[in-house]
Amino acid sequence: TGALCFRDVRFAYDPERPILKGISFDVPAGKTVAIVGPSGAGKSTLSRLLYRFYDIQSGSITIDGQDVRDVTQKSLRSVIGMVPQDTVLFNDTLAYNIHYGRPDATEADVMAAADAAQISGFIAKLPNGFQTMVGERGLKLSGGEKQRVAIARTILKAPPILILDEATSALDTHTEQEIQSALDVVSKNRTTLVIAHRLSTVIGADEIIVLKDGMIAERGTHASLIASS
Ligand code: ADP
Ligand code: ADP
Repeated sequence: TGALCFRDVRFAYDPERPILKGISFDVPAGKTVAIVGPSGAGKSTLSRLLYRFYDIQSGSITIDGQDVRDVTQKSLRSVIGMVPQDTVLFNDTLAYNIHYGRPDATEADVMAAADAAQISGFIAKLPNGFQTMVGERGLKLSGGEKQRVAIARTILKAPPILILDEATSALDTHTEQEIQSALDVVSKNRTTLVIAHRLSTVIGADEIIVLKDGMIAERGTHASLIASS
């Protein structure tokens, strides 16, 4: 489940300046489609429309055939997991931050998710493992560590659909590679929309869509796009 269908999606923040000018593509259930393109091309806007952060003005976006406009934001949030560009964490324990997406999860589930996101070692850095991460106690997290907490949260929530919005763009190359491998684990067999600015970060995607000026400029696999460039 979790098949996505974008049909002739049009959107403008300002009616004078259309951002998306008729975008159509599918993300078959369990597959990964990457949207790449220069900054300002409308990539993040596309993901915000799926999440109903904004509503599309023309065309349709469906999940398993159901129009997202007929789905409440609450239920959308339960089926879509988002690993954003810059993760904002709650000023609370590591466990709280991971637990947040799925309050019914057990502590063992939380630890398993932390393990899968490769932050077990990072938990060990904390006295008792569950000390306050930020604030007075002052454990400071790097961008990469925060991303891993976001990934652990998403693993725990286990949504059928994932949006990875330039999830590694703020990181240095080494951290980016580490996070990328954690993300590959989360996105395996899950319907995944990856927003990226470089082709090199989406080599494994089933399809890559190149967005330019609000339109699809090119599409194909990594190999076919490299061959044609
Ligand atoms: P990308 O993710 O490809 O960098 P975005 O989808 O973030 O592009 O933005 C596409 C265009 O829409 C940009 O020109 C940006 O300035 C504009 N834009 C983004 N968000 C807003 C907003 N909330 N209000 C008005 N314009 C916006
Ligand atoms: P990095 O440069 O390692 O990618 P960031 O740019 O995200 O990390 O953050 C820069 C620095 O700000 C971190 O190394 C950390 O010391 C501090 N920092 C990050 N997040 C927080 C936070 N939530 N609370 C307090 N300090 C933080």
